[in-house]
Amino acid sequence: MTRSLAEVGAEASGCTRCRLASTRTQVVFGVGDPDADLLFIGEAPGMHEDRQGEPFVGAAGQLLTTMLGEIGLTRDQVYIANILKCRPPGNRDPEPDEIETCTPWLVEQISLIQPRVIATLGNFATKFVLQTQRGITSMRGSVYPWHGRQVIPTFHPAAILRGGGTTGRQYGDFREDFHLMRATLDAATAPPPAPAPAPGRDAAEPDAAEPDADAQDDGQLGLF
Ligand code: URA
Repeated sequence: MTRSLAEVGAEASGCTRCRLASTRTQVVFGVGDPDADLLFIGEAPGMHEDRQGEPFVGAAGQLLTTMLGEIGLTRDQVYIANILKCRPPGNRDPEPDEIETCTPWLVEQISLIQPRVIATLGNFATKFVLQTQRGITSMRGSVYPWHGRQVIPTFHPAAILRGGGTTGRQYGDFREDFHLMRATLDAATAPPPAPAPAPGRDAAEPDAAEPDADAQDDGQLGLF
């Protein structure tokens, strides 16, 4: 039987599948709308996230929240997760075996949330999700098809802060990427145009021959 996201999160909260279980304060599973159309994927929790149990709550998270506001969204309307659910000590890079062990949680999140658009934050998440060696500077600014969804890579908000924040060189591109997310989301969630009524038929009458949009999705999104 399919579990709910809350049930999966409850199980993850006691995860001891890798060494990070012994150094973390708590598992940082994810936060937001379990039915979100837009999913953000970062790298791993930092010190603030490890303490509070919620992703992106430090300075980088504040910038993420601000950028969401700029495109008319709140944290409650999207879902925010990381590749690793536990903080690597001293914020070191995730180890390959930690990623391999942790990825099933993310796959289950994607499978349950079924987001239409995924925004990868920074080099790490982008390279991992899109399986590319290309850096974020060349990947950003475009939409990539991925298992029936659309992936939009952008800079990690912490990198934007390190580069001078709103006055930094990359801020304009970062902002542009958020507007690309908005436009992509709007296009992906727009209702299909109503079919022209057949001559002599009542326009309000449902068309029995019209395929079910959800049924189409199920086939396309079969992987997750
Ligand atoms: N950086 C990340 O990649 N994720 C967080 O949750 C916080 C900082």
